Amino acid sequence: MPEQTRLAFADLTLGELQGLMADWGCPPYRARQVYHGIYQRLAESFQGLTDLPQALRERLADSLLLPCLERLEEAASSDGKTRKALFRLADGQAIESVLMEHEGESRDWNTVCLSSQVGCAYACPFCATGQAGFVRDLRAGEMVEQYLFFARKVRVQHVVFMGMGEPLANYEEVLKGIGIFMEPAGLKLGARRITISTVGLAPQIRRLAQEQLQVGLAVSLHAPTDALRDTLAPVNRKYPLKELMAACRYYFETTRRRVTFEYALFVGINDSPREARALAQLLGEMPCHVNLIPGNPSAALRFRPSPRVRVAAFQQELQGLGLAATVRASRGLDIQAGCGQLRGQWQARQG
Ligand code: SAH
Repeated sequence: MPEQTRLAFADLTLGELQGLMADWGCPPYRARQVYHGIYQRLAESFQGLTDLPQALRERLADSLLLPCLERLEEAASSDGKTRKALFRLADGQAIESVLMEHEGESRDWNTVCLSSQVGCAYACPFCATGQAGFVRDLRAGEMVEQYLFFARKVRVQHVVFMGMGEPLANYEEVLKGIGIFMEPAGLKLGARRITISTVGLAPQIRRLAQEQLQVGLAVSLHAPTDALRDTLAPVNRKYPLKELMAACRYYFETTRRRVTFEYALFVGINDSPREARALAQLLGEMPCHVNLIPGNPSAALRFRPSPRVRVAAFQQELQGLGLAATVRASRGLDIQAGCGQLRGQWQARQG
């Protein structure tokens, strides 16, 4: 079968795989064995599932696409702590994902930053992905396989939907992917180890709150007033701050999980003490966390990264007003793997 029409293994929930294999006359434990082999033993192909009869391995390989991503390129930052991979999808599109290795005090932990769409429709002017426009949603399996690629190399403890695309605009597939990540017979990832970052789609934030999941929510705020946010995140005209903040409050009240507000700082645009004070006022009493991101260079030259001292001053201002604010360490800038630098521009370079 042509690759594009064959069902991808990683798109199947355990229940769906059981249904498919039941049609082949297999008892339910067979699907669990497959899930276990691919997601817990991390076998790279059905041939590696040596506890299955040969005929069944062949049937799986004939029927299901695995992998559905092809690794095209990989790069490591000079300190070796950030790795970026460029993948080709079955239809020829390309996406990027990032692995971040952290050294903790007691133990090390690793985070995979996943893309949820090819491109992005939300056109934030400082973000490289946003400049290239939207191509298509990713399927759940295409997200799961980004994770698998890195999980086969290192133990991955966290997943963040902070790569290319707007995860809440691809709601169904992102939720399906999260279900696959959390499957106890498979990857067994806890919801608390998964974070979705959104440009601020208020209705979908409310919907996510109702899922009864403990998934972390990060909101790309970047501005404390509607006038400024309209220019930095154009979707603010559709869901202005009042509506967005109400949805965030609802998320906290429903899940009891503190929302993280991401705030990328750009010189002279949103990085003055005045904006810090306005931000503190906006977030007021809401239990939350502010994650300051020193702006990363992108194609748009008017967005110049705030220097370290300005970021520190902004943080101090917030802390002085009682907000929990941390500074996100910039990573992987030498391989264009920083926040807002993913483009997945593979075709462009071919031509
Ligand atoms: N669409 C989602 C997921 C993308 S996450 C969202 O908007 O949250 C990528 C994060 O990097 C977002 O917080 C985004 O606003 C931020 N970002 C984009 N461009 C950036 C840049 N040039 N410097 C720093 N952060 C940037």
